[in-house]
Amino acid sequence: MNLRIPGPVTIPEDVLDVMDHQMIDHRGPQFAAIQKRVVAALQAAFQTQNDMLLFTSSGTGGLESAVVNTLSPGDPVLAFVAGEFGERIAKIGSTYGGNVTKIKFENGQGIDPDRVAQELKSTPQTRAVLVTHNETSTGIMHPLKEIAHAVRANSDAVLIVDGVSSMLTADAQIDRWGIDVMVSASQKAWACPPGVAMLSISDRAWQAHASAKTPRFYFDWTETKSWMEKGQTPFTPAVSIYYALDAALQKILGEGMANVIARHARIAALTRAQAKALGFRLFGDERYASNAVTALYAPEGVDTETLRKIAREEYDLIIGGGQGPMRAKIIRVGHLGWVKEQEIYDCFAVIGHILEKIAA
Ligand code: PLP
Repeated sequence: MNLRIPGPVTIPEDVLDVMDHQMIDHRGPQFAAIQKRVVAALQAAFQTQNDMLLFTSSGTGGLESAVVNTLSPGDPVLAFVAGEFGERIAKIGSTYGGNVTKIKFENGQGIDPDRVAQELKSTPQTRAVLVTHNETSTGIMHPLKEIAHAVRANSDAVLIVDGVSSMLTADAQIDRWGIDVMVSASQKAWACPPGVAMLSISDRAWQAHASAKTPRFYFDWTETKSWMEKGQTPFTPAVSIYYALDAALQKILGEGMANVIARHARIAALTRAQAKALGFRLFGDERYASNAVTALYAPEGVDTETLRKIAREEYDLIIGGGQGPMRAKIIRVGHLGWVKEQEIYDCFAVIGHILEKIAA
């Protein structure tokens, strides 16, 4: 199978192998040692000295934890939204009673840092800013460095970033850029199974947490931190995924962060070149083209859903479709994780065959 969705992604064999290990006591020294290694490696990969918390949950759980641990009902929040995942984090904010103002950008556009600065200047009471780094639904990597600069220059609000699909595919200097909460998830470029969310938490975010009144239980940061300091988790963790993360992170750090990011950029450029050669048009502003996923309009007269169905049923090639208003309008080709160039060539060779078939 050529799994070209933007997560979950294909897991390398050596990482799969370590998951085939027997269960251990999650309150014993072996688990404590694994968790310690994983946290240290994640701090290196996140380029941060901030605390790192892990939850057994998907990425959305990590985002929910960021909201419920830093905000109180009624708090003014600015959400910069340019796609389905931007909508989702804004919705988490309003679900828990945040007074969320959505600043919308067209799907396929990058969030404009000048607009971020302007909005924050006019709303000094803002308690949190919600931003998606890589908008997986549109294939756009927002200019996080500039956005973070605009936030830090104009506000003391907590900057919460959905980095679920961006981490490892693009630079994100958490401490230098002043990102208060960065959330990712194991099934994306970390190339592990779904089930663990990881977050970095700055001092500013901990201060906000100290007075945040939103009800929470499973995702409470203070509780989680106190258990992690003892080498445990408050509730039963997804032990096998910790095995996987332990192995995957050694591979990632062994390659080096700059190399991992450059490799994603190369595969993304190859994907765009292959797509264009077959007559696809990029969805959205190419200046912000994502290193994690490429969103494409099908060539004239080609139905995206037919294309995806034939790819799946006849060639075992799995490509993503559009989400929300982009449903049936675009396809999305995922390229996060340990993607080989050959997998991209094979993907577009198959798509080329299908286009010929459809045209015949
Ligand atoms: N945010 C982004 C940018 C994503 O790409 C995804 C998943 O695709 C999520 C959030 C949600 O993550 P999960 O499905 O792990 O809850």
